[in-house]
This record gives sequence, C-alpha cells and structure tokens, in this order.
Amino acid sequence: MQGYEAERAAMIAAVRSTAAAAGVRDRARISPAVLDALRAVPRHEFVPPDLRGRAYENRPLPIGEDQTISQPYIVALMTDLLEPRPGHVVLEVGTGSGYQAAVLSRLVRRVHSVEIVEPLARSSAARLARLGYANVEVRHGDGYAGWPERGPFDAIIVTAGADHVPPPLVEQLKPGGRMVIPVGRGDQELLLIEKRADGTVRRRSVLPVAFVPFTRAPGGLR
Ligand code: SAH
Repeated sequence: MQGYEAERAAMIAAVRSTAAAAGVRDRARISPAVLDALRAVPRHEFVPPDLRGRAYENRPLPIGEDQTISQPYIVALMTDLLEPRPGHVVLEVGTGSGYQAAVLSRLVRRVHSVEIVEPLARSSAARLARLGYANVEVRHGDGYAGWPERGPFDAIIVTAGADHVPPPLVEQLKPGGRMVIPVGRGDQELLLIEKRADGTVRRRSVLPVAFVPFTRAPGGLR
C-alpha cells in the first residue's frame, strides 16, 4: 500500500462503527472483502490535491464540477448491498472521481461506468488507468439508458439521486441481479432492487441519503 496507513485504518474503523450504529437490516457488519477493497484503494488519489489530508475522513468531499465523492460508509454500504462476486459484471451510473468504480473493480470481473459530465468522465478514466484499474471502462454519456451493449449486468449502482428508477436499468439487470439507487425529490432514500430468477422485481428502502442530483442529457440519449 502507498502511504496514509494510519488514516486508512482509521477510515475502516469509522466505517465499521457507522455500520454498527446505522441500523440497516443485515448490514450492521460490512463484509470483510468489501472492507479490504476500501482499505486498498488510495482514496487520496481521487480527491483534489488540497483535500488529500482529509481524504480518509468518513465524509463526502467535493471533487469539482459541483459533484462529490461519497462518504466511505455509504460506498461500503452500497458495495456490500450489491453482494459482489469475482465473476460479476457491474454497471455504475455516475463515475464522478472513479473511487466507487475502483472499489468495485477489486471485487468483480468488470465495471462499466457512465458519467454525464465530460471533464469528469475524462479525468476519472485517466486516473483509473494511471492507477492500474484495467477492468474499469468509463464512458461519457447519460446513464439513464444504461449501457445495453455491455449488459445485462449482475449488479447496477447509481450514485446520483434520481426522482424515479430508470426502467432501462431494471431491464439491464440479470435475473438474480441487484441494484442500489438513491431515489426521491428532496428527501432521498437508498433503494435496493432485486430482480428474482422469475424476473419479478422487489424493492426495499434501506436508508435516508443525500446524493447530488441525477441529471439528464438535453435532447435525450447519447
Ligand atoms: N461514484 C462517484 C460519486 C459521484 S457523484 C465517486 O465515487 O466519486 C455522482 C455523479 O453522477 C456525478 O459525477 C454526476 O455528474 C453523475 N451523474 C448525474 N446524473 C448522471 C446521469 N444521468 N448519467 C451519468 N452520470 C450522472
């Protein structure tokens, strides 16, 4: 590992105690594999240089373009809810800094991530390549439509708050697949959506959350 050892350990401790206190059913303990992935990813590489000293605090931070990198506990919780497995192919909507994609990439086979703000798509793709996350593919575009050419997906993670669940994303989920998405106008809740083997869909509300807004490309899809 490359530095910030004490800060990384403190971040993992904070994630564990937040999980224990948060009262989310089944998730009072985040799985060891997810905690290992969080410990391994150099979060200081994903924040602006002037915020590096605070990169391992258990809080969201600004990443430019009016966007934020999520709180480590939320990254851990969302990753854990997806129940990632080494063979999985995952879609992320909202690449941002690339941090969540990097965490997931250590747990699954491939991550395909869509980002609507072009400078962020460019900078996160370059950062992930520089850091050696070769199994992450970033595309600039509106993730409302998912990424049909790369689907269907074992898991889908949306990291911006939408006012409804985009139907194309549910379509691109494999039977047995899991999706996490913050939904709501004003107050948001984190939803876990499970597509059963027979194709029926079950939703569960996990936790109140506050994400940056899900935006749409003018003129529809690209
Ligand atoms: N996962 C990110 C957090 C990013 S914040 C990280 O680990 O850093 C949410 C991101 O979603 C922002 O970068 C925002 O530009 C992006 N976003 C919002 N609406 C989107 C859409 N329709 N398609 C793709 N990305 C979107």
